[in-house]
Amino acid sequence: MVTAPQPEKITVEGVEVDTRHWIGGERVTSADGATFTDVSPIDESVIGEISAGAEAEVDAAVAAARKAFPAWAGMPVAERAALLRKVADGVEARVEELAHVETRDNGALLRSHLRGVMPRVAMNFRFFADYLENDLAHPDMTVPGRGHRERITYDPAGVVAIITPWNAPLMLATWRIGPALAAGNTVVVKPPEWAPLTASLLADIMRDAGLPDGVFNVVQGTGVDAGAPLTRHPGINRLCFTGSVPTAGVIAAAAAPNIVPLSFELGGKSPLLVLDDADMDLAVDIAVEQFDNAGQVCLKGARLLVDAKIAEEFTQRVLDKARTLKQGDPRDLTSDVSALITRKHFDTVDGFVQRAKADGARVLMGGGPNDELGGLFYSPTILADCPEGSEILTEEVFGPVLTIETFDGDEAGVAMANDTRFGLAATLVTSDPERAERVSAQLRAGTVWVNCFFVRDLGAPFGGSGRSGIGREGGIWSFDFYCDVKNSVFAP
Ligand code: NAD
Repeated sequence: MVTAPQPEKITVEGVEVDTRHWIGGERVTSADGATFTDVSPIDESVIGEISAGAEAEVDAAVAAARKAFPAWAGMPVAERAALLRKVADGVEARVEELAHVETRDNGALLRSHLRGVMPRVAMNFRFFADYLENDLAHPDMTVPGRGHRERITYDPAGVVAIITPWNAPLMLATWRIGPALAAGNTVVVKPPEWAPLTASLLADIMRDAGLPDGVFNVVQGTGVDAGAPLTRHPGINRLCFTGSVPTAGVIAAAAAPNIVPLSFELGGKSPLLVLDDADMDLAVDIAVEQFDNAGQVCLKGARLLVDAKIAEEFTQRVLDKARTLKQGDPRDLTSDVSALITRKHFDTVDGFVQRAKADGARVLMGGGPNDELGGLFYSPTILADCPEGSEILTEEVFGPVLTIETFDGDEAGVAMANDTRFGLAATLVTSDPERAERVSAQLRAGTVWVNCFFVRDLGAPFGGSGRSGIGREGGIWSFDFYCDVKNSVFAP
């Protein structure tokens, strides 16, 4: 952390980005002038100095959010929904800019940002605005009483604190911001210090859409300096965290004295379970898709589990296809696999792979840095014969690293799939509808995909079992979390 002179605005990929916090409808630098350095994973170049918040900025943001809360919560639903649709319009109008800035900032593929991620950001506002108006504003939620009338209402909870990671920063933040605002709450966001820029652009979009001051606030900074004071702040009413399991433990402890409801979306070690009757083309396509975002995807099926009867063919075909992946600059629309986020993370991923090799794992492909590209480019890696129970099979690597294991019969496959502390997702490939029903029911995970992958409907519940999280969001589950659900009992 430095206190260098900080330009208020920097130009990133031709787009002007404000480097300051957004608090109470104003751009502010940190009280002590502190900044942190934002570095691009593409070439490890410095993008700029960003305001580094601490207790003072968090206090100011929570105070601004509390002040704005009554008017926002009391705003007629149609008006609130209309403002959120304007935010969605603003995102749609700036998809190109958001995509280019995010790609430079977190190194994920520009192609994915343009086609999938940024349009989804707009949907995160539009869907929950529609849900608020069409479903929640006209609830028919009464329970049969003993002659009493019981009216159930979804009251906004207050100030929602949102802390998010870098692998899909704007999409993951708005998946929380959309429903939190729709429910009538005000919000304080602490973006990831490794990819802080699009949160700042979102503040511009909120301002341009006409959101009242203080409804949406951004405090930039590191987890320890800006995140921690937010998690223990007595002025917050809900705490959303997306990130790693170790950080979640620290945050849960910090939030505990205030008895704040938590929504945690954490890591995973998900299985891709390929049964002996699987459509081979489909299974191979899904397996290779796991290298998306250089494997920095929480939902990734990092463990390829395949029935021994078809293992040889499956393995060969996965290798053939994975070898055609093009690794390179994510701004090149023909690139398939990009770089890892930071040098530290690169070393962590490599550490897992080198220890696995030392433990006896067989390298089928990759197995180390991409020496041709250098920098933070790590070769897509597939390992076999990993010792049972070894860390490469049990810990989240969060890089372009897959393992292959074989099993004999469905029962053994399910046992292997469920042999994890995590439970974020599981993917099953089988051609038999009856087996699909039976085996999917036996898998322990928040989301089970059958013959598909990464399909996420905003109305469906999303979250993790086991160590992968606390709670579910999406559709009514989001409003269950972001609201104080109240029952008013009227005498007959
Ligand atoms: P991380 O836990 O290191 O950091 C996440 C966020 O927490 C960052 O904004 C960071 O600044 C903040 N933070 C760190 N220490 C803090 C503290 N003491 N108090 C408050 N805030 C603090 O995670 P990461 O490396 O950024 O992200 C990768 C992890 O996120 C992986 O485990 C991945 O699986 C998980 N993830 C989960 C989902 C999901 O939906 N389940 C989605 C994406 C990523």
